[in-house]
Amino acid sequence: MHQAQVKRILVTGGAGFLGSHLCEHLLAQGHDVLCVDNFYTGRKENIAHLLGHPYFELYRHDITFPLYVEVDQIYNLACPASPVHYQNDPVQTTKTSVHGAINMLGLAKRLGATILQASTSEVYGDPQCHPQREEYWGNVNPVGPRACYDEGKHCAETLFMDYRRQHGLRIRVARIFNTYGPRMHPDDGRVVSNFIVQALRR
Ligand code: NAD
Ligand code: UDP
Repeated sequence: MHQAQVKRILVTGGAGFLGSHLCEHLLAQGHDVLCVDNFYTGRKENIAHLLGHPYFELYRHDITFPLYVEVDQIYNLACPASPVHYQNDPVQTTKTSVHGAINMLGLAKRLGATILQASTSEVYGDPQCHPQREEYWGNVNPVGPRACYDEGKHCAETLFMDYRRQHGLRIRVARIFNTYGPRMHPDDGRVVSNFIVQALRR
């Protein structure tokens, strides 16, 4: 890749299931990748094979605290994603979504960097229409045990849209639906792994 096209890219939650695949993909494209993770649910095994790569850097950090680095793009994936994990410390889950988004948006604003938020189909809550379209506002219980995740992700989306409207940031929001593949925990309680494990046990 031409030197001018090489981007310095921050991946928060880069040691997690999706983040580790994203780091691999960006390195394969020739980019310079900074992986930031506090290892709450991430695992060293997910990124061990990347540690010797000359364009891969790992930084243990919790995004609920400010982060001062120099990058061109940000992928904000940091957040526990399976119900067992996000309900284990619900206050930290909300802080990661909300304080984490504020810090990453502040970083993007200072740098003029494009920033992507990994949102979720959970913003539709217990949906009353199928399939869900982007225009659908959802049906979330704001006080239930899942609210720390659903409402945290809602608030993060609000912040992303307001940083775009108020500060002209270049943002992307991806509402990811259930994903599966290598490096998922078999027992992390998400629907696809539950089906597979139950089928294997029969
Ligand atoms: P994961 O739990 O494997 O990865 C999340 C990563 O974020 C972990 O490495 C964890 O240690 C890190 N992390 C958590 N809190 C942090 C903090 N405060 N500071 C720094 N790092 C922190 O989950 P995943 O499945 O890879 O999901 C990644 C993102 O995609 C999440 O934001 C999740 O909400 C979203 N998402 C995933 C799915 C899916 O099916 N996997 C569906 C919808 C949305
Ligand atoms: N921030 C950060 N890294 C930066 C710039 C800002 O972590 O490079 C954090 C900063 O600590 C602040 C947040 O991002 O709490 C929001 O920053 P912004 O400039 O949008 O808001 P302000 O600092 O004016 O409240």
